Amino acid sequence: MRLTRYFLPTLKETPAEAQIASHRYMLRAGMVRQEAAGIYSWLPLGHAVLKKIEQIVREEQDRAGWVEMLMPTIQPADLWRKSGRYDDYGKEMLRITDRHDRDMLYGPTNEEMITDIFRAASVTYRELPKYLYHIQWKFRDEVRPRFGVMRGREFLMKDAYSFDVSKEAARHTYNRQFLAYLRSFQRMGLTAVPMRAESGPIGGDMSHEFLILAETGESQVYFDRAYLEMDWMASGVDYDDVGGLQKAIDGFTANYAATDEMHDEAAFAAVPEARRVAGRGIEVGHIFYFGTKYSEPMGASVQGPDGKPVPLEMGSYGIGVSRLVGGIIEASHDERGIVWPEPVAPFKVGLVNLKQGDTAVDAACEQAYAQLGNAGVEVLYNDEAERAGAKFAVMDLIGLPWQLVVGPKGLAAGVVELKNRKTGQAEEMTLEAAIARLS
Ligand code: ATP
Ligand code: MG
Ligand code: MG
Ligand code: MG
Repeated sequence: MRLTRYFLPTLKETPAEAQIASHRYMLRAGMVRQEAAGIYSWLPLGHAVLKKIEQIVREEQDRAGWVEMLMPTIQPADLWRKSGRYDDYGKEMLRITDRHDRDMLYGPTNEEMITDIFRAASVTYRELPKYLYHIQWKFRDEVRPRFGVMRGREFLMKDAYSFDVSKEAARHTYNRQFLAYLRSFQRMGLTAVPMRAESGPIGGDMSHEFLILAETGESQVYFDRAYLEMDWMASGVDYDDVGGLQKAIDGFTANYAATDEMHDEAAFAAVPEARRVAGRGIEVGHIFYFGTKYSEPMGASVQGPDGKPVPLEMGSYGIGVSRLVGGIIEASHDERGIVWPEPVAPFKVGLVNLKQGDTAVDAACEQAYAQLGNAGVEVLYNDEAERAGAKFAVMDLIGLPWQLVVGPKGLAAGVVELKNRKTGQAEEMTLEAAIARLS
């Protein structure tokens, strides 16, 4: 992508309304624009990151055995009357009336709808388990939308659902998602800690929240430092290995970790002092097992082996895809801007032309741009007629992992500069070597 063709409305000034780094940088880097409180347009740079995160989540859901689908954002109120949540949900639910005076709502989550879809499909117990998910916009009329996309009113969520014939089977299903979550967050370059949690308005008795650490987080968290060094990807456990997966999850949850609602002072005090961490965290995911909470009132059952109907054992599993964009920035930035972990970066490389209009420099940049593109490397070429300082400032702000800097002096000596955004380390090498390194 050439910057002159792109749409990157960066801001020089820090917007006054932004209280935390991620919100400031997302506005300054032209990633999003607020349209109303808690409602954002995703501009190209923000959209690119959102899609990267979404894709990692999708790949890990698929790997864990879930099947993707798509439910609508607008739902009929009647579904929610059946579960009893239409009245319980309160003001967070955006209620809409259509032209025929029918009560509708903008979905804050999809338990009711998926349960009804499943009920209508008349599945037999032999066909279970079934695992479904979608990645769709939600609306919750939050009392205090704030911190940009971190607490929006309209936000993108991955929500997965499961249908099992028994509690034991549902536990294995829950464990699958547990591992999928750990893998997903680690792939995004995050350290997410699984914490025992209350299940909130969704209900149930097996529930974990996944939190990333950040001073600006809205949850108070207490946990064992051991979590900061765990490598979930290395566990190598097979999703279909029931016993092995249970053992792995038991290992992952053996150390103390809880949000304030579930915090147990005595148990925390038993953690060696040097390993106790108390701080703030951002909830990026939440998994629940809630048994028959929806299947019973909504009549979603299967015919069991003895011919009698058995209500389905269900769970739901959410990831805040749009919240993660802000969350990752909170976890990875410095005083100059964002520092994207490579797997979620909007582009891998920023190509900086230090002297636009110089025949040799332009030609070298065009060559690099074409060759990197051919190798499938995502490049943002800053081809604007700007001075070098301004170009570096923009590159640092938008945080691409690599900067490939081409200038007249270097070229005369046969070299370009390859700079790492995170470490700040710069290395001189030939253009060919730089392209090979990045490819
Ligand atoms: P919170 O405690 O932050 O209000 P929640 O517990 O109400 O979140 P869940 O119902 O568990 O949220 O939804 C699953 C995930 O969706 C959350 O873990 C979070 O990552 C994301 N999420 C929830 N509310 C918002 C929001 N207002 N803006 C952005 N993401 C959100
Ligand atoms: Mg909430
Ligand atoms: Mg919560
Ligand atoms: Mg939650």
